[in-house]
Amino acid sequence: MLKGNINTLIDRGLYLIHARNAKVGVWLEKKKSFIISRWKFESNFLFEEFHYNTGAPYGTAWELEGPFEIVPPEKEITLNYLNKKEKEIQGIDEKIEAIESWQKSKFTNPLTCSVDSTHPLLKPVWKYNTFFLQCPKCKCKQWEGYIPEAVFESIDWKRKVKE
Ligand SMILES: [Zn+2]
Repeated sequence: MLKGNINTLIDRGLYLIHARNAKVGVWLEKKKSFIISRWKFESNFLFEEFHYNTGAPYGTAWELEGPFEIVPPEKEITLNYLNKKEKEIQGIDEKIEAIESWQKSKFTNPLTCSVDSTHPLLKPVWKYNTFFLQCPKCKCKQWEGYIPEAVFESIDWKRKVKE
């Protein structure tokens, strides 16, 4: 079975992708791969994920949406660029704002540490291109999937990429 359509991808287009190590990638037509920002422990490096349709065992990534923009040929595709796009495409600024206003509101039950609810309120964190809440005291983490949906209801969910 094919996933996505390798024939309609635009060279150097920025796509939302399904991949193991990133959510955005720039399509490299010649290599039939997406270039991504990959984090492994503390290190951050450029990495290529081959398109699923190039076959096993290396082809694992495919496009979900896009292209949101096309990186001009004279512009280098850098980690800085890809990390910025990861943050934008995942709507992190909006999520941080939603969490902060939820935590400050008098009308909501604030999100608290699961180890000890008397610890200071959880804080939103964006690290290694991953979003989570963290207890300022014991550093325990709460992953995005466990945050109640109501917290994000004020956000316009439409993904957007800023210029
Ligand atoms: Zn704690």
